[in-house]
Amino acid sequence: MGVNVGFCFAQIDDLDYQPKYYVISKRISKVAIGSLPIMMFSVAKHDVLTYISGLQHDRMEFLHKWLARIMWVMISAHLALAIYYWLSLKFIIMLYIPPQIFGFIAYFSFCVLTWGSVKFIRELAYDFFLVQHRVFAFIMLLLSFFHNGGNRAAILIAVHGLVIDRVVSKVFAHIHAHKSPTKGRCEFKILDEGTVSVTIPVCEAGYSKPKAWYTRFLPKYKTWKAGQHIYFNVSKIKFFQYHPFTIASLAESGEMKLLIRVQKGFTKQLMKNLEQVDHDVVTIKGMFHGPYGATYQPFIGFDTCLFFAAGSGGAFTFPVCLDLLNQIEKRNDFGDYLFRPATQTIRFVWSIKKTDNICWFEDILKQFAGRCIVDIYVTQECKEENSSSTESNSKGSIMEITKTLSNDYNIYYGRPDIECIIQQHSQQLLPEQSISVASCGSPPFTKKVKESCQAARKLDKSPNVYCYTESF
Ligand SMILES: Cc1cc2nc3c(=O)[nH]c(=O)nc-3n(C[C@H](O)[C@H](O)[C@H](O)COP(=O)(O)OP(=O)(O)OC[C@H]3O[C@@H](n4cnc5c(N)ncnc54)[C@H](O)[C@@H]3O)c2cc1C
Repeated sequence: MGVNVGFCFAQIDDLDYQPKYYVISKRISKVAIGSLPIMMFSVAKHDVLTYISGLQHDRMEFLHKWLARIMWVMISAHLALAIYYWLSLKFIIMLYIPPQIFGFIAYFSFCVLTWGSVKFIRELAYDFFLVQHRVFAFIMLLLSFFHNGGNRAAILIAVHGLVIDRVVSKVFAHIHAHKSPTKGRCEFKILDEGTVSVTIPVCEAGYSKPKAWYTRFLPKYKTWKAGQHIYFNVSKIKFFQYHPFTIASLAESGEMKLLIRVQKGFTKQLMKNLEQVDHDVVTIKGMFHGPYGATYQPFIGFDTCLFFAAGSGGAFTFPVCLDLLNQIEKRNDFGDYLFRPATQTIRFVWSIKKTDNICWFEDILKQFAGRCIVDIYVTQECKEENSSSTESNSKGSIMEITKTLSNDYNIYYGRPDIECIIQQHSQQLLPEQSISVASCGSPPFTKKVKESCQAARKLDKSPNVYCYTESF
């Protein structure tokens, strides 16, 4: 923002043949339009800008929103100063010529884009937000292009960049569907009244992923990194809509597993359709593009790794933790201890509403057995014999610890004390050691994890604390 303001006033005095405010008005529009490529690339699906900047995709969304709002303020200033200039010259006809009319329409579209996408509208009607955003973005970009010939380069770069991103995504969606072992047929299963699991077969047995170094920079095909997400479409439910879901399985399994929590739009419609079919497992054609995201540091180098998940947020943390355990096992087998501690403490904390939710990730939980500490916190239930103490449970106190028969995981009733868990582990480490915290859940849960990491960093002789969070 500082750079933008600086550019708006730099060397303005050199131009003395026009009123200063008019020169500034022109400059403001140039600087604003100069931010357009970054603003547009920040919502690209592919991770080019995330890799260059090191920012996660949700931070990119933040950048997109705030850059757009700053641009709106600048364009408003440009409009006001330019109108004032022509009115002060009593040259009103200049406000009616076609380029100015295009400018006014582009500005109106920009207003709708900026203020029609505020949080409460997105929460109220996400589909409406998406449609109006696309329509008005098209009008705004086209008419800004016609409004001022000097701005065309920035608009062309921004539009072409985003179009290439979207075209590559859609081409890959068709390639994935065409090349999948089932030609895009996916299995859907209702897990409970608010949850659906999807299995997408991706590669046939024996498929080995390409190992050439340059494949790192190409869109991933038939493979993915633990914790990445895809955009999933079921044309039978909503023809045009692609929704992001995290892949809750590892690439070695050859099939993508998604855990879908029912909301109010596409997911609700999907659940309705599945309920009408009298089968346990329903097969429907689906398409996806991706995978994207999961730009975390390798966890294998940390002395302690903590994983926190709330509800379906486990779709991110479960595969990431399992991948780490597999890596450790593999490297132990080879006796490879380069750039990693000889012993690592791994704790997995999962907060769920009901014990029934355990079935969502039961297969991965089984693979955790004996390899890491697993704590499951059940927040909306309590043990029958303690049911009279429900009140204290809702206040967040841990009521009871129960070891399951299998001893695979600990079940606690209540909310996890995230700050306490992080501090306990970080205090066991030396200042030169390191601890990583990965988390996924609702925005308040993620915020709590981030704040707890920050608090742990401030402790005396604290180790290095790395925090990676995702939220949805
Ligand atoms: C990176 C990422 C990973 C996700 N992983 C999972 C997962 O593993 N399991 C899961 O249940 N949910 C996941 N979600 C959330 C999931 O995308 C939404 O719940 C889903 O799109 C809701 O669809 P709907 O039409 O029923 O929602 P609506 O009821 O129409 O909207 C509910 C909310 O969902 C979000 N949303 C809706 N459509 C989109 C979209 N196209 N893009 C982004 N957000 C949208 C909006 O915040 C909206 O307010 C993830 C979201 C993101 C961004």
